[in-house]
Amino acid sequence: MNPRFLDTLSGERRPFVPLDPANVRVYSCGPTVYGPAHVGNFRSFLFADLLVRYLRYLGYPVTWVMNITDVDDKIIRGARADGSTIAEVAERWTARFLDDAATLRMTVPDVLPRATGHIPEMASLIATLLDRGHAYRTEDGSVFFRIASWPAYGRLAHLDPAEMRVGERVESDEYAKDDVRDFALWKGPKADEPSWDSAIGPGRPGWHIECSAMSMSYLGPSFDIHTGGVDLVFPHHEDEMAQSEAATGEPFVATWLHCAHLQMGGEKMAKSTGNIARVADLVALGVSPRALRYALLAAHYRMSLSFSEDSLQAANSAVERLDALWSSLAAYRSDGPDDPTLDTLLDTARAGFEAGLDDDLNASPAFAAVFELVREVNRRIAARAISTADAARIRAFLEDIDRVLALLPDEEALEPDLLAMIEARVAARAARDWAESDRLRAELLDRGVAVEDTRDGQRWRRVETARG
Ligand SMILES: [Zn+2]
Repeated sequence: MNPRFLDTLSGERRPFVPLDPANVRVYSCGPTVYGPAHVGNFRSFLFADLLVRYLRYLGYPVTWVMNITDVDDKIIRGARADGSTIAEVAERWTARFLDDAATLRMTVPDVLPRATGHIPEMASLIATLLDRGHAYRTEDGSVFFRIASWPAYGRLAHLDPAEMRVGERVESDEYAKDDVRDFALWKGPKADEPSWDSAIGPGRPGWHIECSAMSMSYLGPSFDIHTGGVDLVFPHHEDEMAQSEAATGEPFVATWLHCAHLQMGGEKMAKSTGNIARVADLVALGVSPRALRYALLAAHYRMSLSFSEDSLQAANSAVERLDALWSSLAAYRSDGPDDPTLDTLLDTARAGFEAGLDDDLNASPAFAAVFELVREVNRRIAARAISTADAARIRAFLEDIDRVLALLPDEEALEPDLLAMIEARVAARAARDWAESDRLRAELLDRGVAVEDTRDGQRWRRVETARG
C-alpha cells in the first residue's frame, strides 16, 4: 500500500504516487549558515530524514537535495561583525551543521548545493521571469517579482493576495518597488556587500530564488516532495512556487510537507527569542544523541512538539529499553524449540510500524508498535520461550526497521583495556573471587560500561557516566 501524505497546497491527504517511480525527488530547505542550527531546526531536518528513510525502506529510489544558504543578510552581518569573509562564516557553520547532522544520524543528502555555487542558474531563471513579464528591474539594479502578474499567488499559504499587508506578513524591503508585496529576486550591488557578475548584471540573489534554482537544477521543473518548517510556508515557499511556475509554466511540486514548530517552555524555539537549545551543547551536557533523535522524531511532524527535560528523559529511557533488548538478544542462548507464534508477533509489529508511517508519517503509533514488540519479546526472553534462532530473527527484524529509525546502538568494539577488564572479571567469577568481580564491575561502570550477569553469561552495554 502507498503511504498517504497531507499536502499543504491542496489541504488533502493523498496516496503518494511518484512522478517517476525510478527516481523519487525530494527537496528540503536546509540551513542558513550564520550560526549553529538549534534543535528546532533539526526537528524539521530529521523529519525530512524520516521521510527519505521511509521511502527507501518501501523500496523507492530517492534523490534527496538539501540546500545550504551561504549568502544572506545575516551571514553578511556576521562576517562584518568578526572581520571575516562570508565564505569563511559559511564554511565554519556548514561544517558545524554537518557535524550536528551526523551526531543525530541524519542521512547525508545526495546533493547539498551551496547557493553561491549556483549564481548563473539563478540569473538565468530571473532572466526568464523578466522575459515573460513576471519581473521588473529597479534603478539600483535589483529585480523584483511582480505579484500582480501572478493571480495564483497566495495559494500555498491560503492567503488572499489583496489582503496581505506590509509589515505583518510581507517582508518589507529597503529597495524601491512598484508594489509593496513584490519580493526581491535579485539585489543590486552595494559597496559594502558581496556581489556577483551575472547575465542580469551585478548583485546578489534573494533567498527565495536560491531554492527555486537549486531544486530545479537537480530535480527538474516538477518534482515529488518539498519539505520545510511551517514558518517557511509564507513567504518563502509561496515565493518559490510563484517564481518557479511563472518561469516554467509547469507545476513546481507535487506534495508540500511542513513540519510544525518545536516548543520549549511553551514558546516556539527560535533564535529571535533566545529560546534555543543546540545539539552540541546538549550532547556536551551528557544527553545521548540517540535520545535526542528519538525526542525530535517520536511525535507526528504536523503536531507541535514540546521539548523539555521530561521529554528528553522519556526519550532516554525508550532508547535504553531498546539497547537493553538488543544486548539481551545478542547474549540469548536457548536450545529449546522455536517459538511458533514469533512470525505473527513480528508481522503485527511491522504492520503497526508501517500503518503509522503510511498515515502521513505519523511516528507516534509507529514507535508505539516497536515498543509493544520490545515489551513482548522481553516477556518471552524472561520466560525462556524463544530459541537462539528466534533471538537472531528478532534482531534481524529490528535491524530492518532501524533503516528508518536509526536508533539501535552502534556495533562498537570495546577499547582493549576495557575488554581486558571484562575478561578479567569472567576469570574472577570462575575463580569465585567475588570481591575482585565487584571491584571490576564498579570500575567498568565508572568508565561507562555496565556489566550484568545473566544465565547466558556476562554481558555489557554502554551507559552515560556520572561524569558525562
Ligand atoms: Zn528554501
